[in-house]
Amino acid sequence: MKNVAVIGAGTMGNGIAHVFAQFGYSVKLIDVSQPALDKALTTIGTNLDRQVAKGTLTEAEKTATLTNLSTRTDMQSAVQDVDLVVEAATEDVELKLKIFKDLDAYTNPSVILATNTSSISITQIAAVTNRPDKVIGMHFMNPVPVMKLVEIIRGYSTSNEVTQLIMETSKKLGKIPVEVNDYPGFVANRILMPMINEAIYTLYEGVAGVEEIDAVMKLGMAHPMGPLQLADFIGLDVCLAILRVLHEGFGNPKYAPCPLLVNMVMAGKKGIKTGEGFYAWNHGTKDLVVASKFTH
Ligand code: NAD
Repeated sequence: MKNVAVIGAGTMGNGIAHVFAQFGYSVKLIDVSQPALDKALTTIGTNLDRQVAKGTLTEAEKTATLTNLSTRTDMQSAVQDVDLVVEAATEDVELKLKIFKDLDAYTNPSVILATNTSSISITQIAAVTNRPDKVIGMHFMNPVPVMKLVEIIRGYSTSNEVTQLIMETSKKLGKIPVEVNDYPGFVANRILMPMINEAIYTLYEGVAGVEEIDAVMKLGMAHPMGPLQLADFIGLDVCLAILRVLHEGFGNPKYAPCPLLVNMVMAGKKGIKTGEGFYAWNHGTKDLVVASKFTH
């Protein structure tokens, strides 16, 4: 495989395009929004500069990475000659089903269609295509150029050959793939989201404040950041959507999202992306303070 299309140029799409291009693949980054593509290229440039400054990439490798990348807004023509598609568009089931139906029509039947979804069933996505054996989850972690794990999710019909090929491809990107089966939340979010939800309940019930909860988990469990700060990084809307998938998928009340999380998302306090979640985020200085709502 040499030619890759990445669908969606947001938080994850730019990182996925970055690593494929860095490791020699020719990458078309596709988004319906031109501003999103422009922003993605700026972000990739900044992240490559950071790698050069740290000495993990040479100037020549940075230039080669940028040469391997192009951006497009027209998915139909852009995916004509690719070997692999990695979809990283907005986490919305109807949107993903439409994208996969279109990809199935636009690409050669031998092309592998992967999705970076955090929680939507791979089996459900695969079922709208005529090649369910070639549909697979390729779940990168944020920030993609830094994080080693790729959770490889086998749908009900995903073949052994396709799984093997995607495991090998992930290794070629310098990542460590882990194979899991397709059940709600897969492994990463099935374990992470209940922890974040419990941290929010702990705040909601007044057991401790934002900083205290995060301090306990950082200092006591050696987590690099506390669960409430991590929720701000991931996006509170994303956390809520994943908890709803777990709640619905297993029919178990233990996954019910905390009412405080629901309220914050309704109020538009979604974490870093909106400037406020459990913390207030100053994009200029990257300083963080506990959001005023939680200081008294
Ligand atoms: P995002 O909102 O930052 O970016 C989504 C992008 O998709 C936007 O630029 C949007 O314009 C684009 N888009 C929407 N419809 C499109 C279409 N029809 N064709 C092409 N582009 C389209 O979202 P994100 O955080 O990058 O998440 C993307 C995917 O990755 C989701 O499935 C999410 O669950 C998953 N994911 C997110 C994280 C995370 O930490 N944010 C981690 C792992 C996986």
